[in-house]
Amino acid sequence: MPVAANDCELPTFVQRLPKTETHLHLEGALPYELLQRLDPVKFARPPASWAPEFRFGSFGEFDQLILGLLAPWFTSAARYHEAAAIMFRRLAEQNVRYVETSFHLPVVQFIPARGDEILQAILEAVPVGMTVRVFAGLVRDCHSGPMPAVIADALRWKWLAGFDLHGHESLPLEEWTSEVWRRARNADKETKAHAGEFGGAGNVREAVERLGVRRVQHGVRAVDDPAVVALLVREGVTLDITPISNVKLGVARSLREHPIRRLHEAGVRCTVSTDDPLIFGNTLTDEYVGLAREAGFARSELVQFARNGFLAGTMPASVRQAALAELALLERDG
Ligand SMILES: [Zn+2]
Repeated sequence: MPVAANDCELPTFVQRLPKTETHLHLEGALPYELLQRLDPVKFARPPASWAPEFRFGSFGEFDQLILGLLAPWFTSAARYHEAAAIMFRRLAEQNVRYVETSFHLPVVQFIPARGDEILQAILEAVPVGMTVRVFAGLVRDCHSGPMPAVIADALRWKWLAGFDLHGHESLPLEEWTSEVWRRARNADKETKAHAGEFGGAGNVREAVERLGVRRVQHGVRAVDDPAVVALLVREGVTLDITPISNVKLGVARSLREHPIRRLHEAGVRCTVSTDDPLIFGNTLTDEYVGLAREAGFARSELVQFARNGFLAGTMPASVRQAALAELALLERDG
């Protein structure tokens, strides 16, 4: 069926696109209604950061807000399950077929649950028809106390998709990280890293060259160094970009000025995701619609972002083929 080209049909077009979410923090996707159920008075209203014009003053401000919201909820594996079930349902309603999400593995130091129990609890919430890959999130300075043993154990969890490096980019990349990332790939796990959000293009290069990842979360500051952009293209690195998060955190001034335009045009494979919808109040549909309305991306380019997710992700061939075929039809008719 042909898709009308006028703007009022844009959300319908975006809805029809089979999509992926490949940069999503499970804790940062906590459905706000669960907090409201916990404490209807304290959480009567969503955070001010849901307003479209809201801008954080610093990453510290973001950190403080998110910690205050997550701590009351994430106290057990069962709570992870409950949050994941709603989160996956919402994504399925937006025609998201494939999800990569990470949970904060160091949480096992603070709540009475093992990492493999949390992993299991999340996976048991996956609805029929959706492929979900769950990553263990680590931070740059977490390799102390019980964590080296937890990480060594995690390398053996059959259903763990891999590791994703989170946290403050201002901290140095410690020696243990590249060793763990290498061992993970040897154990057939995927590896990713956050870089080039608050850190510069050098951090993106470091993630690719020292950590050996081919999936960078954010990576947008690569745009400041043509040599790093060339490296991303040459090595086939995918950037899992979260435009609304970048604008609210001051990484980009606006969607119109967001580096995704230049990175995409330079031939870097970019995908679109939401990062922490609990904090930004965004949906994946908002991201695609915003890129079209505010950054001027054509429908064929939205199709390409969706396609990139299915090309970058690890999913059954039948899931990929079906999505790519639907996208080809939408591209032809859109
Ligand atoms: Zn992130």
